[in-house]
Amino acid sequence: MIVTRFAPSPTGRLHVGNLRTALHNWLLARKGDRDGTGRFLLRIDDTDQERSREQYVEAIRHDLAWLGLEPDDEFRQSERLELYDSAFAKLKEAGRVYPAYETAQELELKRKIALGRGLPPIYDRAALALSDEQRGAKEAEGIAPHWRFRLDHGEHIDWEDGVRGPQKFDPAQLSDPVIRRADGSWLYMLPSVVDDLDMGVTDVLRGEDHVSNTAVQVQMFSALHQAGEGAEHCSVVDSFPHFGHTALLVGKEGKLSKRLGSLSCDALRERGIEPEAIMSLLARLGTSKPVEPIADRQVLIEGFDLQTFGRAPAKFDEAELERLNAAIVHQLDFEDVRERLPDGIDEAGWHAIRPNLSHVSEAAEWWRLVTGPIEARAFSDEDRAFLAEAADALEWSDNPWGALTTTLKERTGRKGKPLFLPLRQALTGMDHGPDMGELLPLIGENEARARLKRAAGESAG
Ligand code: GLU
Repeated sequence: MIVTRFAPSPTGRLHVGNLRTALHNWLLARKGDRDGTGRFLLRIDDTDQERSREQYVEAIRHDLAWLGLEPDDEFRQSERLELYDSAFAKLKEAGRVYPAYETAQELELKRKIALGRGLPPIYDRAALALSDEQRGAKEAEGIAPHWRFRLDHGEHIDWEDGVRGPQKFDPAQLSDPVIRRADGSWLYMLPSVVDDLDMGVTDVLRGEDHVSNTAVQVQMFSALHQAGEGAEHCSVVDSFPHFGHTALLVGKEGKLSKRLGSLSCDALRERGIEPEAIMSLLARLGTSKPVEPIADRQVLIEGFDLQTFGRAPAKFDEAELERLNAAIVHQLDFEDVRERLPDGIDEAGWHAIRPNLSHVSEAAEWWRLVTGPIEARAFSDEDRAFLAEAADALEWSDNPWGALTTTLKERTGRKGKPLFLPLRQALTGMDHGPDMGELLPLIGENEARARLKRAAGESAG
């Protein structure tokens, strides 16, 4: 059984970095779905009341649905606070959380002093050393404590990372993390572990910026286990899920962070990027598999394999996304796009113009070649005579373009460009465009003859 989750904080729009994490987790769950037990969960990490916004929760759901990454279930951390309270109480009883009273300024000062001495800025556990009287005195002064998780320095931290291989951390080299603020609100670290245990999450795939969080969380999992939390899932998850930390996404010129606004899911949608183009790129980026325009999700699912992930940063290139988009658009069936096309385009019309599009939204522009009006072009006398001949030779059949060009070749001796280009210009007003064999039947006999005559300088009659 595979259970994965995507756990965004609703503090902004999803961007390509988040989408990649969502996709990886979705792919892993779907790959594990052969027996019908693979589950992909959406967990809204909204414990930060101040920064979380309902509009972003809606946007996350909408973006995932648009991408076809619908979750099998959804949870919100803000509705699960009692679970965190109970886990906290257990950890407290087990001596794994302790109150601390330092202000942000004091902590910052300690950090600077440590760094100034060339030491790593690890929390010095001063609060752990306080006596009951000292704590009482702090509280009598009206200082409410924040809470830290006490790392067990005797318990080495290691896990087999699905992407990075064996990972080892010395807990003494880490700060005891603050898990709860003085006002009782939660930081990310503990609720995530409580939820992963409670939901029976088997696999956590996320960016490598979370590696040191994982080190701390591995100890939280085992502390909660020892306290009897999540016992019903023990057999399936061991004491903690499988972790995989993917290399970060970077832009072609370095950090992506500054451009994330333009790389949000809604910005890409507005630019006419197809979900399948985004999925094709993000599923393979940073892996040893080639990035290809793959519209069939099943192919992506079956090919998903953490073993193929590299450790070097994955380069996200917008030009590559545009190229994939065009290739995906060229594969889309009429039924896939019908609702997004201007009135009048039928299946034959879509097929004729599809190879010319980089975005579906350009269909209207090309369709104008069929419905007109088209741009009037200037022709030489010689070409005008040729086009008059064409208007005369035009005969309607299953293949009017083939018939027209064959007749004209015989009558005028023209071939190649001098044969085809004036016809295309007269019939569409353009030098290039959709295949004329497909386009001419859509233009229709009368309109085609009128265009040829107009170009020949004859009255279209
Ligand atoms: N809300 C966290 C984030 O967006 C979740 C990290 C995780 O996957 O555990 O970074």
